[in-house]
Amino acid sequence: MANVVLKGVTKIFDGTVVAVKDMDLEVHDREFVVLVGPSGCGKSTLLRMVAGLEEITSGEILIDDRLVNDVPPKDRDIAMVFQNYALYPHMTVYDNMAFGLRLRKYPREEIDQRVREAADILDIAALLDRRPKALSGGQRQRVAVGRAIVRKPKVFLFDEPLSNLDAKLRVQTRTEISKIHERLKATIIYVTHDQVEAMTMGSRIVVMKDGVAHQVADPLTIYQKPVNQFVAGFIGSPAMNFIEGRLTRENGSTVFEAGAFRAPVPPERARALGDVSDRQVVLGVRPEDIFEIADADRVAAPARVTAHLDVVEPMGNEIFLYFRLEERDMVARIDVRVPPAVNSDVDLIFDMESSHFFDTESGRSLLFGGEV
Ligand code: ATP
Repeated sequence: MANVVLKGVTKIFDGTVVAVKDMDLEVHDREFVVLVGPSGCGKSTLLRMVAGLEEITSGEILIDDRLVNDVPPKDRDIAMVFQNYALYPHMTVYDNMAFGLRLRKYPREEIDQRVREAADILDIAALLDRRPKALSGGQRQRVAVGRAIVRKPKVFLFDEPLSNLDAKLRVQTRTEISKIHERLKATIIYVTHDQVEAMTMGSRIVVMKDGVAHQVADPLTIYQKPVNQFVAGFIGSPAMNFIEGRLTRENGSTVFEAGAFRAPVPPERARALGDVSDRQVVLGVRPEDIFEIADADRVAAPARVTAHLDVVEPMGNEIFLYFRLEERDMVARIDVRVPPAVNSDVDLIFDMESSHFFDTESGRSLLFGGEV
């Protein structure tokens, strides 16, 4: 296996479209790195540059410490798995998996051994004689992964491999790919727009927007300490609630104010914010950091809100409450069994101990965004 290093990698299409901008990234040996971001953020382009399918406008890409800028894809020792599995319809599963090895003139016994080993890992040994049209979507996807595994590449590249699968199969295949990673100890770069996939699969996540990496960190750090409002809003479902307002000092304490809503900022958070008297900020509160008033004793730094419920969505194990606060749409995620009625007023509590604050102009987190 191998590491992948990107140094100042930039891709400009047609002289004008900047798809990837000055990207630095080191994917360590055996690491599972997920590139995640909204449509058009440049994640596929970045992966295709590593694969050698797209030329680099400037910068350097190294695989296993070898500069590969001018190395053609077939000589990079990588294997890529795409969203549309691109299996050969007229070939059996066995032949689909063996095809690449035959092209490379591997001995027949070795091909056989590798195909059977991969089939075993992927639990498709019983399907080896079938053609792709006789397989389910999930099985086809496994064959596509198998085709990559038999090559024993230095690096696996996955481009949205699960997006054609239905929700249940996606979850199942997600855990399978994680297991394969464990078993093969492979270096994997995985592209998705799905933040749940990113959170559950990646040892590290690269959150991208407009061709730039906004944050590179392990999933929990990304979730708990987002460096800016974009990352905070992109990772987490339902998304973090945001409300613009002002931080002021009152009798030695810091208070957040937005219209009639007033929330004391707990001392630890206030200390981390530094000198913020009279500063415009955006407050961020995750839906699970909002509680019913009955749970007030679970909240260390409560800020009380009377919410008029526009929509109530019982999810079975929890309930999503949609309401407006000072003209802002908000959602709370409450773990009660009996849903409150739509159009009723309920008292809720924001846990300010878990609050986030962002600069109104730049979106930078005042807590976790580092020095300006
Ligand atoms: P998606 O999730 O929709 O696939 P993405 O994050 O993978 O999006 P890319 O496909 O990498 O994004 O595209 C990044 C930007 O580069 C987009 O603005 C896209 O329109 C542009 N782009 C991609 N390929 C080309 C191309 N061949 N020619 C011109 N522009 C391109």
